[in-house]
Amino acid sequence: MKEVWDEIRPKGQKVPWHKLIWFPMHIPKHCLIVWMALQDRLQTRDRLQRMGISTDTACVNCNLSHETRNHLFSECSLAVFLWNSVLTLNGMNPTNLSWEETVATASTSWKGKSLITFILKIAWSAFIYTIWQERNQRIFQHRSRSAEILLTEIIDAVRFCLRGKNINRLDSTNLNLCNAWGL
Ligand SMILES: [Zn+2]
Repeated sequence: MKEVWDEIRPKGQKVPWHKLIWFPMHIPKHCLIVWMALQDRLQTRDRLQRMGISTDTACVNCNLSHETRNHLFSECSLAVFLWNSVLTLNGMNPTNLSWEETVATASTSWKGKSLITFILKIAWSAFIYTIWQERNQRIFQHRSRSAEILLTEIIDAVRFCLRGKNINRLDSTNLNLCNAWGL
């Protein structure tokens, strides 16, 4: 774990998605899982099968498809529900982007210090972490939570990170975001 952590820390050449992980207010345990997802290093069931460790490749979050990184975080019905809920809270239109498209879009357009940028980054990290945590709970602890409960985990992460922060509520976009997210 320490080796992974040392590798994450920014040094030398930066990858395009560097700022999706390292930003003020990031949650370290989320950061680690996001980094592993971006590197496709999470032990998803397709990888375990290729390594001969497991033969069950079903996605436990939907039970409708094989579990791959791209499926878990972009194609799976749970992922689609959670991310589109985040976009809706932001007053944005739902999307149907692939994993690569999402990372490319996020790397190029989630820039600056606006409230919506921080919310998108925090929510995306929490989204990845929550999906991976839920998948692990379903596989290893045989416990599952509803999509609505998982959405509240993401909302709570955004509230936690922005708690006590000085937000300019005279800006109508910010005010709408504060109302939607309960900030
Ligand atoms: Zn699925």
